[in-house]
Amino acid sequence: MNTQGAAEPLPTAVYTDRMARARAQMEDKDIDLLLLSLGLDLPYISGYNAMPLERLTMLVVPRNGEARLVIPRMEAPRVRPQPGVFEMRPWGELENPVEIVAELAKKAGTIDNVAVGDQMWARFLVELLPLLPDAHFSRADVVTSMRMTKDAAEIAALRAAGAAVDRIAAQLQAGEIDLVGRTEAEVSADLSARIVAEGHQVMNFAIVAAGENAASPHHHPGDRVIAKGEILLCDFGGTMNGYCSDITRCVYLGTPPAEIADAYAVLHEAQHAAVVAGTVGTPCEEVDRAARRIITDAGYGEFFFHRTGHGIGMDAHEDPYMVEGNSLPLAAGHAFSVEPGIYLDGRWGMRLEDIVVATADGPVAMNTANHDLVALDV
Ligand code: ZN
Ligand code: ZN
Ligand code: ZN
Repeated sequence: MNTQGAAEPLPTAVYTDRMARARAQMEDKDIDLLLLSLGLDLPYISGYNAMPLERLTMLVVPRNGEARLVIPRMEAPRVRPQPGVFEMRPWGELENPVEIVAELAKKAGTIDNVAVGDQMWARFLVELLPLLPDAHFSRADVVTSMRMTKDAAEIAALRAAGAAVDRIAAQLQAGEIDLVGRTEAEVSADLSARIVAEGHQVMNFAIVAAGENAASPHHHPGDRVIAKGEILLCDFGGTMNGYCSDITRCVYLGTPPAEIADAYAVLHEAQHAAVVAGTVGTPCEEVDRAARRIITDAGYGEFFFHRTGHGIGMDAHEDPYMVEGNSLPLAAGHAFSVEPGIYLDGRWGMRLEDIVVATADGPVAMNTANHDLVALDV
């Protein structure tokens, strides 16, 4: 998910450092050329966030040699120059930008291994392949892996975004947001407005799922009218100063029946166990197991059918993923969601989600909104 953060560029020294670290990784991984186009690796390393246009924007980074930002001439005024990080190569409407990229690549010397960002348009890669016939292309895990480990400023940004959605969750739990009689879509629009009102520049998503719709984890809010006597799942987030928030809370419209209260108690215990499991050195899959074990032992295992969490930062979903099979050990600065759920098809669903950062002092939650299934007096 490309959450186009509206962040102002940071001081040049930040990008000088990140570029140097990227080049060191290229050295380690024997990558001769790094090509970054759309997606958030580009702003992470250069401060420039390209709009997803049909015109090519690409940062060409030779392992040894100056980086060039190949960019449509008409977009060039939007770029904040970063001296020593990259130079610009604006292209005019009658030039072929893919040929420009290939020429820059050849100028850099022998190109055996080229790493390309995941979100480059397929069209440009397809056009580039025959122009560099001897090169071997691979996915770039250079900047992506750097982005996993957040520095203090990035963690502060995640904390501020988390506090903003916590305030909205508190409004929801206090009954300050009208629910019964409105459609899911109306409540979703309300949450979206609050996401911006609480300081995000960008609203990314606001899932509102009532009753049986909550059994679909990524339900698209529609014209279903919210009624008394059902659970309501709200999962929402935005981008604030370039970093994402993401929280899920459920409320019950009335007094929950024992079946739902009991299942929620299991969910709450599972979520808590996975949060405290998120210590430095713990493999990501252990965070998933911590939640899944409790849900499975309570008999709901088959109803928890997604991974426990995803990394978060400039993107709402990024590395590392809390999923079985991911043995990557958590490091200080890794930020991720912990969001187990229980979904009974056609009946009801529930999920509880916080963002957590692994630190030397243990896991720190970026969200502190009440974890209970709040029963609203409706
Ligand atoms: Zn979420
Ligand atoms: Zn999430
Ligand atoms: Zn809790």
